[in-house]
Amino acid sequence: MTRETLMPSILIIGGGLAGLFTALKLAPLPCTVLTPVPLGQGASSAWAQGGVAAAIGEGDSIDSHVQDTLVAGAGLCDEAMVRLMVSEASERILDLLAFGVPFDRDLEGKLVQSREAAHSHHRVVRVRGDMAGRKIMEALITAVRETPSIRVIEGAEATELLTGTDGAIIGARAVKDGRVLRLEASHVVLATGGAGQVFAVTTNPKEAWGSGLAMAYQAGARLVNMEFVQFHPTALDIGRDPAPLATEALRGEGAKLVDRHGERFMPSLHRDAELAPRDVVARGVFASIQAGNGAFLDCREAIGAKFPEMFPTVHAACIAAGIDPVNGLIPIAPAAHYHMGGIAVDADGAAMGVKGLYAVGEVAHTGVHGANRLASNSLLEAVVFGARVAEALKGVEAGTVQMQDDGPAQPAPADDAAFFQRIRHLMQAQCAVLRDAKGLQAALGEIAPCRERLGHAGALARIASLMVEAALSREESRGGHSRTDFLASWPDKVWSIQQRGSGLRVERLSGP
Ligand SMILES: Cc1cc2nc3c(=O)[nH]c(=O)nc-3n(C[C@H](O)[C@H](O)[C@H](O)COP(=O)(O)OP(=O)(O)OC[C@H]3O[C@@H](n4cnc5c(N)ncnc54)[C@H](O)[C@@H]3O)c2cc1C
Repeated sequence: MTRETLMPSILIIGGGLAGLFTALKLAPLPCTVLTPVPLGQGASSAWAQGGVAAAIGEGDSIDSHVQDTLVAGAGLCDEAMVRLMVSEASERILDLLAFGVPFDRDLEGKLVQSREAAHSHHRVVRVRGDMAGRKIMEALITAVRETPSIRVIEGAEATELLTGTDGAIIGARAVKDGRVLRLEASHVVLATGGAGQVFAVTTNPKEAWGSGLAMAYQAGARLVNMEFVQFHPTALDIGRDPAPLATEALRGEGAKLVDRHGERFMPSLHRDAELAPRDVVARGVFASIQAGNGAFLDCREAIGAKFPEMFPTVHAACIAAGIDPVNGLIPIAPAAHYHMGGIAVDADGAAMGVKGLYAVGEVAHTGVHGANRLASNSLLEAVVFGARVAEALKGVEAGTVQMQDDGPAQPAPADDAAFFQRIRHLMQAQCAVLRDAKGLQAALGEIAPCRERLGHAGALARIASLMVEAALSREESRGGHSRTDFLASWPDKVWSIQQRGSGLRVERLSGP
């Protein structure tokens, strides 16, 4: 079968901000959205605490937002894509308002914007302090439920992309209620989110383990810069998986990072101390924990009694763990938070290497984040490129995605869950905040043999191996990637690592 013989139809895999926004912008063109859990659950989007970056405030400019993004990306951003994203921000904020998102406004009715680390201006639109993600998703889910052209299939986990004899997309397989579903589609949009769960300590939901990357790679798509993972410096260290986040805005309000002796450790590491770039703070927190001194957020003086009202989400997580953030210290640790690498796509979200495949949101590599993401640029990326994918698909005379039951799903191997956890712990130990060749090679030696396994552990091993191989190949420290055996970065020799099939290709972006 080839794509040409199929009835045109659009399948979106993933029901986070990227997937739902794409579906809404496609309307009235029909599409089908798959999610493994009920809408609103299992998506990082609903957990976002900061908001959406958009240069729409007085005194701010597109140039300034572009510049801040390029600086954070440490030489690896695609400047044209950054400019495109930043320039389309205001229209997408208007879309979100039209879908009913209750962004905070001041007494004059203007949108309130907060300032986050490494932004030169107050630029982040938010909802009631730290509720942005939840409120954005609530509004979009309501809009999706009211849009007849969008069919949502909840409880369906995609496991494989289907390609025709010519290598182009013809659909996907998914598992729902123990049965295999075969879904025929001429256009598949992957919106499966991030890959934080590749690591044992992460802020990402259980569903964010990189299944979209695994499916795309298997289908022949090109993955780019897999080694770049952003570790958030202040996840709550309370033994929960995933680890709840203590938003950066706490430090923005003046909270301090201290060790168990009450000593601040950031001032000696960076002139901006607690407000240094995320990767610098993550390394500082990691080093303090490794030295046996622990790491804590001290919000007592800066926030104190205002904590419950200003940061309701963080407050609730602390209280549930028996921590009183008003009067005591909050234990924290760095956690895998955002994956800068992903499926290489063009400005319309079309994946390179597989006709009919699109990717949007965190699973995609558009080039806007480079080696390190600027805070609150990811929700922006999801809506800007979601709208662009929808626009690119507008010409498709799409009908309904055809589905058939392909029989009972094969049960996962009995030791699937155990191997899955083993790989996560290996990645945490050897490929997290600080990396070196010895540790990376040791991890690869143990993970690589698992790549042939069936079930989730096999797919996770394939993704983890790609990350480790790319981390080994990048013999420098840049952005979120820190090699203790290669501390310097090579400013005159900037390259991007591309992985496809059995090959690993290095594309020189600048330098001799
Ligand atoms: C705690 C936290 C706070 C954050 N705060 C901010 C912030 O303030 N601002 C900002 O810009 N960014 C923030 N980020 C990052 C941002 O939330 C994500 O990058 C963004 O939401 C990604 O959107 P997405 O739609 O691509 O993925 P998601 O929202 O994660 O959605 C992915 C969807 O795909 C589904 N899925 C996964 N695998 C499959 C499969 N195999 N089959 C079917 N469906 C599948 C998932 O269940 C989910 O529905 C934060 C992230 C976290 C974890």
